[in-house]
Amino acid sequence: MPVYQQFVKQILNPLDLWRSGDYAEIRYLKEFERTQFLPPDELRELVWQRLHHIIDTAYRRIPYYKSVFDRAGLVPSDIKTDTDMLSVQILEKRDVQANLQTMLDPEFPKNRLIFDKTGGSTGTPVNYYYSIERKWARQAAMLRHDRWAGYDVGQRFASLWGAARDMPAPSWKQKIKSLIFPKTLQLNSIRMTPELMLEFNKQLKRYRPPVILAYANALALFAAFLKQQGVSVYRPKGIITSAEVLTPEDRKLIEETFGAPVFNRLGCREFSVIASECEHHNGMHLMAEGLYIELIRGSRLAETDETGEIIVTDLLNEAMPMIRYRLGDTASWVAGTCSCGRSLPRINNVAGRVTDFIVGMDNRLCSGVALATFIVSKRPSFGQIQIIQEEYGKILYRVGCGQNKPLQQHDLEFLREQTELYLGKGITIDYEYVDSIPHEASGKFIFSKSTVARKIFQ
Ligand SMILES: [Zn+2]
Repeated sequence: MPVYQQFVKQILNPLDLWRSGDYAEIRYLKEFERTQFLPPDELRELVWQRLHHIIDTAYRRIPYYKSVFDRAGLVPSDIKTDTDMLSVQILEKRDVQANLQTMLDPEFPKNRLIFDKTGGSTGTPVNYYYSIERKWARQAAMLRHDRWAGYDVGQRFASLWGAARDMPAPSWKQKIKSLIFPKTLQLNSIRMTPELMLEFNKQLKRYRPPVILAYANALALFAAFLKQQGVSVYRPKGIITSAEVLTPEDRKLIEETFGAPVFNRLGCREFSVIASECEHHNGMHLMAEGLYIELIRGSRLAETDETGEIIVTDLLNEAMPMIRYRLGDTASWVAGTCSCGRSLPRINNVAGRVTDFIVGMDNRLCSGVALATFIVSKRPSFGQIQIIQEEYGKILYRVGCGQNKPLQQHDLEFLREQTELYLGKGITIDYEYVDSIPHEASGKFIFSKSTVARKIFQ
């Protein structure tokens, strides 16, 4: 590692974290770097200690869970095995929406709480809180998993991700920080025209980031475009894909085009990184020290090689415990141990959100995940939304409104204004109201579907 990178990693970054009160992130990183290689029995013991602790805390301190356990006639000491967990009621996204205040520890210091909300692409937007401790653990977990792909603190980094149009101008503190720390090169997947994609390639060649993080679908489209153009392409050391389902065809296309291995990742806003690939690319290792993961089929646990719904219990968020949260994605277990030596269990065949690009008025391509993040999640009152595009210049918002009233006038105005901002003026918008938008039989939720975008690079 070059001297300046070492200086940033060993001196400047710890100083900056200490100054901002986030030094505990380094403590968590050291812990996670060690625990990933624990013998399987010891790792399991650690996970179960944390699981008992969070269940016990939830039962004693959180009104919502006291009532969930009481209704089921359970006490925390009844939970001794994976199978026992099945008797605890599943936490649906709508339960979190309806019980936000009673799920929060009433005595948790407000100045140590972080508020956040999910994007709209997984079905139902959710508001939630986590503790500042959890923030440090999340950041450390992310860094550990980034390091598997070849990234380290002090290195340059690029992301092909959605960036909001209304991002505030950087403060003077951020400007000074950007002079010291390598900046992230942000390539905005919210608007991908042929000219901009050629520019992205040039920027990557100039900046030379060792690792690129990208929406799986956005990077596949970028790869298909570069291949079609026949231009020379920047080759990083590693690529992290996330936020969308990565198909085997897209993985092959990305790896061939960029000449680098893809490290696929499952993450979400509620829990940050859930699982990601190591250098052996044989399934994704769970972030097991922070999350207890179940794969279930109805009322039983999935067998190895059987697809199950992913149920997540956050082991480290005492402020607002999330116990048995239905993520909305499916996966299967990978048997055996990984050659990398990490004992973190592995999952595979993840099926989650499916998002197509939507074609805007000047043939710009706009990532579905980005649309979900910057339009739908701004208004949790929207509930479920799906975007369908079957012809150029026109889109259909399908709204799953259940018992709620269809969109109000101010919602329609907001949608029109935001849609024109991202897709261009003059686009025709239609609406269709349905009771609910079901997940596909495979467990996938299709947020955006465009038959127009698929034709562009065929
Ligand atoms: Zn491994």
